[in-house]
Amino acid sequence: MTRILLFLLFTGLLVGSAVWLANHPGAIAIEWVGWHLETSASLALVALLVLIAVILILNRVYGGVRHMPRFLGRTLHERRLKRGGLLLGEGLAAVKGGDTALAGKMLREVERLLPGAVGVQVLAAETAAATGDLERAEEMFSAIKDNPKFRACGRRGLLELAQARNDEDKVLAIARDAVTSGISAPWATGPLFQILVRRRQWEDAMNVLGRAHGRGGRSARADDPQRVVKASLLCAQARDVLALGAPAQAQRLAQQALLLEPGLIEATLISARILITENKHRKAAQMLAAQWKRVPHPEVASLYLSLGDDGDPLKRLKRVEGLIESNPEAPQSRVALAQAALAAKLWGQARKALDPLVRTRPSPVVCRLVALLEEGENRDLALANQWLMHALTAEPAEAWTCERCGATHTRWDPVCSACGALGTIDWRRARKLEGSPEPTTPAAE
Ligand SMILES: [Zn+2]
Repeated sequence: MTRILLFLLFTGLLVGSAVWLANHPGAIAIEWVGWHLETSASLALVALLVLIAVILILNRVYGGVRHMPRFLGRTLHERRLKRGGLLLGEGLAAVKGGDTALAGKMLREVERLLPGAVGVQVLAAETAAATGDLERAEEMFSAIKDNPKFRACGRRGLLELAQARNDEDKVLAIARDAVTSGISAPWATGPLFQILVRRRQWEDAMNVLGRAHGRGGRSARADDPQRVVKASLLCAQARDVLALGAPAQAQRLAQQALLLEPGLIEATLISARILITENKHRKAAQMLAAQWKRVPHPEVASLYLSLGDDGDPLKRLKRVEGLIESNPEAPQSRVALAQAALAAKLWGQARKALDPLVRTRPSPVVCRLVALLEEGENRDLALANQWLMHALTAEPAEAWTCERCGATHTRWDPVCSACGALGTIDWRRARKLEGSPEPTTPAAE
């Protein structure tokens, strides 16, 4: 619309000027170095306009010619960059796909097209690593590492080379250096954490975990997916620190572990043992009783019963009744009660405690207690022996069992020695071993 208006305005002006010139004819005469030129005013005006147009066109042509080399150079450079970028991408794809021959060919091309570019260094390093020239790869990745903008890329390449060489010390050094320099990507924190755990450097592992997940290492948030792992690390640290003779620090760590995972038996035991050495028996007893309510464990019972034990079996039985009242139906509660009742020769109470366990796949511990009962109450040595034999084939009882691989362990540890998993060992009924015979209880025969 505006264009049409402008065009109409311009045409109007042109026609107006032509009419005005026609109405005001005149003549122009020029005398110059012997030249004499005479013409009408309108023709002179047209000639002037033509002259201006010619000058403008000539100026344009001159500018074009003057900038021609630079223009040609830029076009060539752009084409070079475009082709180099394309080949670099293809080279990286080839090396990723394992086509080292194609990657090498692309590398030669891009080295010519894009000399000194970091992408070319990466392609050179990756190609060298893929063809087994680890020294050349290391040299290239070291060069990339020195570039502040790409320090992470260089370190990652060096770390992967160390992993390929199975050089754990070097992997540890590179990963540690990367994490300390502020890199918290999984390629650095993952291997670092695994090595620290393998080397049982719990505190360092805990710090790496904090960096990797961007949360305070000891935060006690219930939705923290790393809660159990953190609690396990703290508990292991507490155990080591206690062994080194620093009970106050061990207590602090055990408490932090319990804050994250209140049912962690090992942490409760550590904390209670320290309280007992400080003569805080009441607090230790409360803690052990609370643990029994959550997860009953024989060591919790024996530590609880060791408090103020004067060897009187009846008093001991009373104390067991006090301990198990919060969780009386748990198999471990029945076992603890039966043990105390047997020691006090209260056969009826022992049998009452064991009966439900005998009816549902008795564990080896239960079989041995029934054997004691048959021998103590009825003097039936034959039946007692049958129960002892049965204990050998009975389904395994609760044990420190890895949730992931099912391996059982004699004591709690943050790491499963069978599968290397962290925070998976818990007190639970062990899995039956493949191929072991179906147990039959003497009572059922
Ligand atoms: Zn395992």
